[in-house]
Parts: sequence; C-alpha cells; structure tokens
Amino acid sequence: MASDKRSYHYIGRFAPSPSGPLHDGSLVAAMASYLDARAHKGQWLLRIEDIDAPRTIAGADKTIMAQLSCLGMQWDAPPVWQSHRLDRYRTVFEQLKARQLVYGCACTRRQLTGGAYPGTCSRGLAAGQQARAWRLRVPAGVVRFVDLWQGPQSQDVAAEVGDFIIKRADGLWAYQFVVVIDDADQGVTDIVRGMDLLNSTARQRVLAQLLGARAPRTMHVPLLLDEAGQKLSKQNHAPPLDHGNAVAALEKAWKHLGFPLLPRIESVSEFWAQAVPRWAARFNI
Ligand SMILES: [Zn+2]
Repeated sequence: MASDKRSYHYIGRFAPSPSGPLHDGSLVAAMASYLDARAHKGQWLLRIEDIDAPRTIAGADKTIMAQLSCLGMQWDAPPVWQSHRLDRYRTVFEQLKARQLVYGCACTRRQLTGGAYPGTCSRGLAAGQQARAWRLRVPAGVVRFVDLWQGPQSQDVAAEVGDFIIKRADGLWAYQFVVVIDDADQGVTDIVRGMDLLNSTARQRVLAQLLGARAPRTMHVPLLLDEAGQKLSKQNHAPPLDHGNAVAALEKAWKHLGFPLLPRIESVSEFWAQAVPRWAARFNI
C-alpha cells in the first residue's frame, strides 16, 4: 500500500442528501472533508445524494450549495446529482447480474428477523415467487482496513451482515451500491465523513472489490449529538445553520473536531487560512 501521500492525486468529496439545509452536524462532516482535501492540496467534489426520492426536499440542494459558499467552501468541479445517474447504476447492476453476483430475494420484512441475512433466496426463487429486492452475493472473508480517525477495523461481512440489498423492494437503489459506483467513477481517493457510516465501510469495500475499483481511504469523524445522545440530523429536526454568523458556525464545528479555538477570526477566509495548516499538522500531511 502506498504510504507516500504525495504519490497520488487526492480527490475528496462531500456528499449531502438534500433532505434539508445543512445543520451543525452535517457541517462537521463537510468541514473535515474540506480541510483534508485542502491540506492535501487535492480536489474537493460535491455530490448531491438525491437517490432517495421520497426524502428529497425540492430546493434543498440549492440551499446547501448556497450555505457552503457562504461558509467559504468551494467545490472544484461541477456538482454531481445521483438522480442524473440512474442509467449508470442500472448498467452496473446488469453487469453484476450477468456475473451472477446478485440475486432476487422474495423475503418479506416479516420473514427477516434482523441480524445477518441467512441466504434464504441465494439458490434461486421457487416457482411463483417474485423477487422483491436484489442482493449482492458477498464472498467469504474478513474485510480489514485502517480508518484514519478510528483506527484498525475488521468486519466479516458475509457472516455479520450477509448478502446485502443493492436494489430495494421499493425499486430504489441502495445507498451502499450507488455510493461505491459514484466514488469509483469520480476517482475519489479519500472519504471523510461522519462516524455513523463507519459500519457501512466494509460492505462498500466488498462492492468496490467486485467492481474492480480501488477502495478509497476513509476517515470517520465523531458525530455531533443532541442532548439525548442522538445524532444531530435533519430527521430529528436539527435547526439549520445560523446564516448570520458563518464564522461562529465554523468555530463550533472546529471545536467539535477537537481543535482549540483559533485566535481573532473575523472572516471565513481567515478561518480557512488558519485551520488548513493546523489540520495538516495534526494529521502529519
Ligand atoms: Zn430472501
């Protein structure tokens, strides 16, 4: 594995779902990915993850882009919308299907008791059964990787998760599936995102390997929790960022990432000018 960080061209990304405006919690993830990209003198891409149409709120993508601009976070290439890439996802799905790496699953929610999928439908469906969802055939073996924030990780995906869904019963592509295709197609080398996605990483690495893609390095940063210890999210109605005070919002996220307050910051550009070298020093970039 290449350890010389200058030996490849860094491409990072921020990939919000447009289910509402940015809030303090999503800003932490956005900030960490932006700092890491800038510290590596790499590219920072913006991907709008609007694949989950029922949760998408019209105009939230534009709001998020306006918020990022206001916070001084500029993406380096035109944003990508997942909803524009459905043909691509279908093509990859058909390729996996032709390789017999996916199979139809007729199990109803009631039949699935939680825990690893036991492979009930992996040998084919009985006559008259209809595929509801489609699952990936997960190869045996333990997935190991080193997360740049959380340290060494391992997961036996076949045993602990089982063959997982890549096309859902409601016809939508699963998050795990599209994110791996997008990262591969955009040449993403480094994923910096919230800790809640650490558990998805092994599945994504399995998929990347089956697609012949190089798995990006990952860094999963701590989540901002509310007073009840829940992830701050649009689903539990986190208030949007205070537009009036971009610097204060940046400082709050910065503090959450464990850094001491920066002295005398009066503008967003000053914030980034001071924050990027501190991030680089902390991670020895
Ligand atoms: Zn099944």
